[in-house]
Amino acid sequence: MKQNILDLSKSSLESWLLEKGLKKFNLHQILQWLYRYRVKSFDEMTNLSKQTREVLKTHFEIRHLEPTEKHTSPVDGSTKFLFKLPDGKTVESVLMPIKGAKQKDGTESSNRITLCISSQVGCAMGCAFCRTAEMKLVRNLTQGEILGQVLGAQDFMKQDNTGADGRGPRVSNIVFMGMGEPLHNYDTVTDSLQLLTDVYGIGISQRKITVSTVGLAPEIRKFADNPPGARVKLALSLNATTEEGRKDVMPITKKYPLEEVIEACKEYTKKSKNRVTFEYVMMAGVNDSLDDAKRISKICAHLPSKINLIPYNEYPGSPFQRPSEESIQRFFHFLADRHHQVNIRYSKGLDVLAACGQLATSSKK
Ligand code: SAH
Repeated sequence: MKQNILDLSKSSLESWLLEKGLKKFNLHQILQWLYRYRVKSFDEMTNLSKQTREVLKTHFEIRHLEPTEKHTSPVDGSTKFLFKLPDGKTVESVLMPIKGAKQKDGTESSNRITLCISSQVGCAMGCAFCRTAEMKLVRNLTQGEILGQVLGAQDFMKQDNTGADGRGPRVSNIVFMGMGEPLHNYDTVTDSLQLLTDVYGIGISQRKITVSTVGLAPEIRKFADNPPGARVKLALSLNATTEEGRKDVMPITKKYPLEEVIEACKEYTKKSKNRVTFEYVMMAGVNDSLDDAKRISKICAHLPSKINLIPYNEYPGSPFQRPSEESIQRFFHFLADRHHQVNIRYSKGLDVLAACGQLATSSKK
């Protein structure tokens, strides 16, 4: 099988072109065809010479991911895709249109469309509350498979053609909160970020991309030191407030203690000048006490941060329960009253089993 050109990072595509004696300016042309116009054949790249197209054709294919299943939630309009990979494995992404999302200045923006993407098939991190963890790690996704989820969702919206301006809606935000641990597939994820944010690539603003991690401290530090990692947003899945409590639900804490992870996040905030987002999955009787809220408040005092409380999403056979609305509110107000920036994130797509941590096993076919 020929190589999928979507698997080449920007710099490897550039080196390849120069090696073949092609022109440097071809790089931007090719990237635009691949990522902006999403063409599926080299013949459509009409501003390239016939000869250049032939060289490309001899070496590469353009392989997009096709969704084998799509479910749109009648409740909130989110769509879950199941993408089939070339080796028959599957991976999931969730498209979440948010109408009238608020902008920073408080005015209502046009619609925000967030795509939640996967970075691995399965996951090796073994978090006790997470459905993907049950699969264990199957393999890393390639760059073409990470970007392919975005191209596939974008194709779907064009077909769907709900955009009023004739051009159709665009994916405006990306979160790496699907299957897998993005920093465990570090090089491929950073190459993908390069093309997601490149003006000749998919062209999404760095501020609108969030990479979410269990807390691989060395990778967080590396991420903070290098573009594009240092520019996109980082979220840490905190989920517990004591060393012991975190070890119970997130075994990675045995390797990287909470204190070290928070220190790495602090470094990220200093270098990137971004805040870090702490995600906190709320589980009844596990981490929803006011003592936990106090400890979060203390952690947040050390670094620029905001907190997203995620009420636990139960699934068939899930080991934890979601706290009552009353205790979620009590926890929220404790933090809000102490001037922390805190939100409650009720997951989208619950009725299509597309919520955080619900990707994977339900759709294994
Ligand atoms: N590995 C990365 C990204 C994938 S998980 C990470 O851990 O951050 C994305 C988010 O979903 C994480 O914050 C995780 O804690 C949360 N999550 C996992 N299972 C969940 C569940 N059942 N209910 C609610 N949130 C869940």
